[in-house]
Parts: sequence; structure tokens; C-alpha cells
Amino acid sequence: MNIWCVGRNFVEHSKELGHEVPQSPLFFLKAGSCLVQGRSIVLPSWATEIHHEIEIAFQLDGELKPNSVALALDLTERKWQTHAKSKGLPWTMSKSFKGACPMSPPRKMYEIPSDEDFLSWTFHLEVNDEVRQQGRLNEALFSPQKLIQFAKEHFPVEPGDWLLTGTPAGVGPLKKGDYLRANWGAFLEMEWEIS
Ligand code: ZN
Repeated sequence: MNIWCVGRNFVEHSKELGHEVPQSPLFFLKAGSCLVQGRSIVLPSWATEIHHEIEIAFQLDGELKPNSVALALDLTERKWQTHAKSKGLPWTMSKSFKGACPMSPPRKMYEIPSDEDFLSWTFHLEVNDEVRQQGRLNEALFSPQKLIQFAKEHFPVEPGDWLLTGTPAGVGPLKKGDYLRANWGAFLEMEWEIS
């Protein structure tokens, strides 16, 4: 199972990191084994600045169509990432460490009422009861459909793979003892604790 991720898909987040808006989707990978279920998040001992990035994640079925959806954290070691970017080095260390992709239990896409426009649902991340990030998929530069299309054209996408659709503005550091609560409308809800 692969975890396909997209950088700079939300304009305000690109700005907060000082980046230009991309002309086509900027894909990167997290190892499939980064995915962790459950409420507890363990940060790697070597890390100094792990940022939260709340994202909506879609899982692809046998026909490479999205059939499940979940809340995901694209955890990022920002210090390493900034260093790697400045030196033109790979950023695997900052994105693909052990436990780098906590995920909520998924729900099936068919559970979404057909008259609902899920692209307009707001997703939030609260850290210690304070809203840090919020966004809607219809604010993204590239829609989930466009991202899936692009991924299928360029990469060896397989059934069961996950696609993370990018994070809105408001990313920031996490520390031991933080309590996280995320939701996507009333459809998905998740809580995590940093231990
Ligand atoms: Zn991300």
C-alpha cells in the first residue's frame, strides 16, 4: 500500500511556508508503513519540530476510484524539511518517519448522502481546544478527482493506496501531552494524544 501526498494544494498554506503556487500537483510519498491507527501518537525521539498537517485522505478501490475516506495527519519534521529544501536534498527523513501518518478509522464514500456536496464541508484541527487549521476541499487548487487522475497518469497507483489531498494554513509544532481533535463536518471525527 502506498501513501500519495500532495504539497502546496492550499494557497494560504503555500504562502505561510513562503512558496509559489504550483501549476500542476506536487506529489511526494510517505511509506505505506507510516500509517498508524489509534488515538496515541508517538513522536520520534530524534525529532525537534514535528508539525501537524490535517488532511482529508481517500483510499482507492480495485478500479482506482475513491471508496473510503478518513482524516489523516501528514506529520512533518519541519526543521529537517526546511534544511533539506535549502540544500536540495531529499526530504524523506521529514515526511516518512515511523508513525508519520496517523489516520482515523475510514468511512465508505457511499455513506455520504448523494445530495450533499462534500467538497464544501469544512475540516478542522484543534490542538488543546484551540482551532489551528480549517479548510474545505473546494478551496484546494486541485480537486480530489484531479489529483487521482494526475496520480494515475504518472505513478504506479494500486488498489488500496491512500491519497492525502493537502493541508490548509495554520500548521505548527506539536509537543508531548498535546490533545488533538479533528473533524470533517459531522461525517468524520477523531481524537489523538501526543505521547
Ligand atoms: Zn501535507
